[in-house]
Amino acid sequence: MPAKMERHDFIEARPRAGVLNFRPSRVASRRRAGESNDRQGEEHLNNVIIIGSGCAGLTAAIYAGRANLKPIVIDGFEPGGQLSLTTMVENFPGFPDGILGPDLIENMRKQAQRFGAEFKSGAITDVDLSKRPFKIMAGNDTYETLSLIIAAGATARLMGLESERKLIGYGVSTCATCDGYFFRGKDIAVVGGGDSAMEEANFLSRFASKVYLVHRRKEFRASKIMVDRARANEKIQFVTPVVVEDISDVTKGGVEYMTLRNTETNQTSKLDVEGVFIAIGHVPNTKVFHGKLDMDENGYLITHHGSQTKIPGVFAAGDVQDHHYKQAVTAAGSGCMAAMDAEKFLEAHPDR
Ligand code: NAP
Repeated sequence: MPAKMERHDFIEARPRAGVLNFRPSRVASRRRAGESNDRQGEEHLNNVIIIGSGCAGLTAAIYAGRANLKPIVIDGFEPGGQLSLTTMVENFPGFPDGILGPDLIENMRKQAQRFGAEFKSGAITDVDLSKRPFKIMAGNDTYETLSLIIAAGATARLMGLESERKLIGYGVSTCATCDGYFFRGKDIAVVGGGDSAMEEANFLSRFASKVYLVHRRKEFRASKIMVDRARANEKIQFVTPVVVEDISDVTKGGVEYMTLRNTETNQTSKLDVEGVFIAIGHVPNTKVFHGKLDMDENGYLITHHGSQTKIPGVFAAGDVQDHHYKQAVTAAGSGCMAAMDAEKFLEAHPDR
């Protein structure tokens, strides 16, 4: 993996001429919204709560903060989201030399705080979206809010090996688009047998010298066309039916080989690779919304007209509603959309 890079000085975003020229009615409604936290007996009533502090949630917080909505961001159980698990990010616009994922997240967090966003730790345990103000429960804490942005993300499914978790960002990756470029001319493996694994193997063959497609069964969940495409790629070699027993070498802080066990013969073998891409699916963090919001068959929230869910005042952004693009920049874009949609909603519905 590339050496750790120097951290870049963050250039403060200055308000541009014109950007602050809101229409008077919008200024007034913002002022009203900003004041709602101070109303007698309603100290607990928030304008907007943002669930999740990854790229989507933090961008929503920057926009909502700048709109004077005093957003509350509830971190969730994976503060910073998936970027906090990656190393170098080279495809986020504005960083010609790349930026470390955790640094990018930290910068966004500071930027949101600068505009008045307040952060609370804790994972959401329940929500009541049956009427406004919505109630958000995080353990013993209950928050009330006039609007809600769900940016809880999706968690990449892992195999559950200790070595896998320790080597994430050090040769083990869950994102081919993000990290493929680092493996130019190297032998690597992709784990999985679904469409994602096939797609990632094909994508990674542009960079890698060899891609082993490692799957626990001989049959594939992926569509035939995707399997055929991968089989036709001479850089891709299928290794089945095997389970990954270990990834080495944690003590050296990098990937050198995988230990595989053939499920038919029970024999173990070593596979020399310098990178391992885990492509065994994602799990959207939507458990608490089951039965309350519309979801597709995989549990991703369904949005329409930008970031709207079926409940007016409840918006969704980022990977929690996107199983297709799953990029930091698309998550940021949808976080911006959700904050603008929430702001517009609050203008039209300033009171409970
Ligand atoms: P998926 O279809 O659920 O496939 C996951 C794969 O990972 C399966 O082959 C599964 O093996 C394997 N797996 C799961 N847990 C594992 C574990 N603990 N250890 C080892 N292997 C494990 O997930 P996906 O490939 O991410 O696709 C998700 C959805 O997005 C699908 O509907 C897919 O069609 C869609 N998608 C479409 C495209 C496209 O059309 N271009 C691209 C990507 C994704 P088993 O089969 O043995 O259970």
